[in-house]
Amino acid sequence: METQLLKNTRPVQVGNVSIGGPGFCVIAGPCSIESEDQFRTTAKGVLAEGASLLRGGIWKLRTRADAFQGLGPESFGIIKNVLLETSAGLVSEITDPRQMDSLYPLVSMFQVGSRNMHNYELLKELGKQDKPVLLKRGFAALVDEWLKAAEYITKQGNDSVILCERGIRTFETATRNTLDLNAVAFVKERSPFPVIVDPSHGVGIRSLVAPLAFASAAVGADGVIVEVHPEPEKALSDGFQALTLNDFRQMMVQLKKILGALDRPLT
Ligand code: PEP
Ligand code: MN
Repeated sequence: METQLLKNTRPVQVGNVSIGGPGFCVIAGPCSIESEDQFRTTAKGVLAEGASLLRGGIWKLRTRADAFQGLGPESFGIIKNVLLETSAGLVSEITDPRQMDSLYPLVSMFQVGSRNMHNYELLKELGKQDKPVLLKRGFAALVDEWLKAAEYITKQGNDSVILCERGIRTFETATRNTLDLNAVAFVKERSPFPVIVDPSHGVGIRSLVAPLAFASAAVGADGVIVEVHPEPEKALSDGFQALTLNDFRQMMVQLKKILGALDRPLT
């Protein structure tokens, strides 16, 4: 079944990876970059198993002001070393337009976090850049508001937008968020943007991340972004939802089988 969905999607080039074509992309790495060892071990581990891009937070928007806020500029040297060693591209969140100059040379794609989906000044600034933007859905945003937020970026001239469903806040509290796979199918059909899914924040429970990654592939997403940590119990943020390197390896074995059945390569 060659779906109409894939035909509507305009692929976006992220470093040397094309997202939104026939292939399924796996972006993986820690929630936050915490140390050179932690980032290097995670990066090498996930790339060896088939991830094609790395994730890693530099500035973290935390609910509690006294929680770990990310290493900030202290992580720049770590990132340069690890990217040089691995030749991989990085996706990382920009939380403030004043970070643009320092972040630009480090990333292959800017990430806009859920809390900033409505930050229109940030979106306009990203619209003036010549690098792709991963636009996460606000946790209380309608699909329509999410698509209108994407237009703030494209209107400035930057068409390289990838949407990311990361779970929404509903009446249900059993899981951290409710991963809205309806929205994934809907925006795949109704928008030109590639769509990826973040099952880590979407469900917030380590053991449920892989099943929701599989569901994302089945529903037609163009990829997933997942949190991985070599020692989740020591993570400074979101350890409860981080896959170990072993969990990630097992997820990739299954994911490759599912992609095979869907006749889609890993990209
Ligand atoms: C993240 O991916 O690092 C993150 C903070 O996610 P979200 O913005 O979706 O909460
Ligand atoms: Mn996180």
